[in-house]
Amino acid sequence: MDVFYTAESLQKKLESLKLSGDRIGFVPTMGALHEGHLKLVEKAAAENDHVVVSIFVNPTQFNNAEDLKKYPRTLEADITLLSEVDNVLVFAPDKNEIYPENDHFDHFDFRGKDKIMEGEFRPGHFQGVVHVVYNLFSIVKPDKAYFGLKDFQQVALIRMMLSFFNLSVDMVVCETVRTENGLALSSRNMRLSEKEKEDALIIYNTLLFMRSLDRTLTPVQVKKMAENYFSQGNLKLEYLEIVDDHTLEPLRESWTSNVTCCIAAFCGDVRLIDNMQIRP
Ligand code: AMP
Repeated sequence: MDVFYTAESLQKKLESLKLSGDRIGFVPTMGALHEGHLKLVEKAAAENDHVVVSIFVNPTQFNNAEDLKKYPRTLEADITLLSEVDNVLVFAPDKNEIYPENDHFDHFDFRGKDKIMEGEFRPGHFQGVVHVVYNLFSIVKPDKAYFGLKDFQQVALIRMMLSFFNLSVDMVVCETVRTENGLALSSRNMRLSEKEKEDALIIYNTLLFMRSLDRTLTPVQVKKMAENYFSQGNLKLEYLEIVDDHTLEPLRESWTSNVTCCIAAFCGDVRLIDNMQIRP
């Protein structure tokens, strides 16, 4: 399996593959790979001739220097894991490759959707996310790109960016991969003790609780009950929202037909997010 450290060397390889008509799938990641990432890579491998997997811990999407410092970095193990999938090209650039001096990406106007939920608690996060995705897309120029629904708001905002710039990349969204008892896989889980992994199940259980509630209750009532349910656990809630899938607007008195419940919480000093669609 080839590992590329510069944009130029990757592009040279991709140009020759594209000349022979090969289709390129792309999975952007920050590494510390787990089964959730692998599902994306395997799907991409099944639907394309080659898959580029980028491994880059993007500093511009971290609003907290300590969080960036503590983010797990396991490049060698990641490369070993990826070598189990056929036709993968790994792109492991440093910062200068992704943000060259002539970088012309500017602030993106999300019309406020980058200020709620993740955006409210991680100011500037989504500007960093779309910036890195835009620059990665400019380098890789994939036919299809694969993202996980685990990052529900990220999916919605990248979709906005693709549509705004009219980029001809098919976005493929994959379901969240969980442990047997429901914890959403995340690179950050590496930093949890066994006890904390147990504690963290309150997130999934609260989402299930919300899904089980009677839809004659209003979203505000469900939110209140869910916050009470969540508070029985040991995590510190950052937000719990019930939003419309398309507008991302928090629901108050009535339901719409596509609804997602989103939670962000701290388990010790590890910040976890998860979400679940509910169909009223
Ligand atoms: P990250 O390395 O956290 O930036 O994630 C890279 C991609 O993998 C993103 O599109 C994530 O949404 C996706 N991803 C992360 N965790 C999971 C999971 N448990 N299930 C499915 N996709 C995931």
